[in-house]
Amino acid sequence: TATPIFNFSAGPAVLPREVLQQAASEMLDWHGSGMSVMEMSHRGPEFISIYKQAVADLRELLNVPPNYKILFQQGGGLGQNAIVPLNLAGRRAQPATIDFVHTGSWSGKSLKEAARYANVNVAASSKDQAFTAVPPQASWKLTQDAAYLHICTNETIDGVEYNFVPEVPADVPIVADMSSHILSRVIDVSKYGVIFAGAQKNIGPAGLTLVIVREDLLEHALPICPSAFHWKTVAEHESMYNTPPTYAIYIAGLVFDWLKRQGGVAAMEQRNIEKARLLYAALDADDFYQNRVAKENRSRMNVPFYLRDEALNEQFLAGAKARGLLQLKGHKSVGGMRASIYNAMPIEGVQALVDYLNEFAGR
Ligand code: PMP
Repeated sequence: TATPIFNFSAGPAVLPREVLQQAASEMLDWHGSGMSVMEMSHRGPEFISIYKQAVADLRELLNVPPNYKILFQQGGGLGQNAIVPLNLAGRRAQPATIDFVHTGSWSGKSLKEAARYANVNVAASSKDQAFTAVPPQASWKLTQDAAYLHICTNETIDGVEYNFVPEVPADVPIVADMSSHILSRVIDVSKYGVIFAGAQKNIGPAGLTLVIVREDLLEHALPICPSAFHWKTVAEHESMYNTPPTYAIYIAGLVFDWLKRQGGVAAMEQRNIEKARLLYAALDADDFYQNRVAKENRSRMNVPFYLRDEALNEQFLAGAKARGLLQLKGHKSVGGMRASIYNAMPIEGVQALVDYLNEFAGR
């Protein structure tokens, strides 16, 4: 039998094998409808049933309270960097102030984009620590009447993950970019005003963006907010104001169903803790490899690391590929290596990577 392949891409990323097999078997004829899901009207009863089930399963998986809307949008995380301020800056007299905590590449992109629509206050930054930690909340300089606070709870490139929910002034909602760790751990949705995530890591194919928004936050868009990106309009039309990414929603629905069969988010979290423990232990065994992130902020999903001798990088990647360990090259902005170990990465994949790390280090 062929060597199993394990795909460590940061996204688009590995999907559960069973999901791909089910999609393949339903590709030409979904449930006897005579149509592929790709060919269905988004307003027909077949697709509406797929959509409703996906929303209901996601609501169950994340225990989303009834006063939150689940929206399926397009435009990715970077789209939300504009869509969020366009929808929320109107909570305050203009120009509004938005607070940001700058913990890495993605929160950096978010604050740069928001500055086109509002005043941006960087309440805290770990830039001078090369983004290797989340600044402790005690050091944050929050604005009492900010329109909202934006955080990126898992920095995909820097490998930094929050292990706490911030305390905020009474009327300042938290907006969290959870693109690269949503559904990987139990969260309390009620602590956030808005959660958004591009689908292409832990949810499904690229092209779908998930937004979970508290209902009272639908009312504060700037007049220039495009209608197709106005959350209130999107919510009123059940994410079908414009044609949604139907096939991506269908695959996401299959992933949600798979997650339920795995025991839900709490069960996934236990597995993710174990996978991360295994991998970091191998990286920490001696100084052959190096992960520079503060231990308490190390991401369970995205594990960047460097070889002590970077001249061996190409040899490391070639050896990994020969063993079926794919897409381990680090992001171009930081170099080195990165192993993304999302929900769909089985523990066998992490073990195969750990075996290779040990072998390559001559342990
Ligand atoms: N936020 C985070 C945390 C991400 O990891 C990414 C993509 N890697 C983005 C935003 C941008 O997403 P997109 O490319 O879908 O716009």
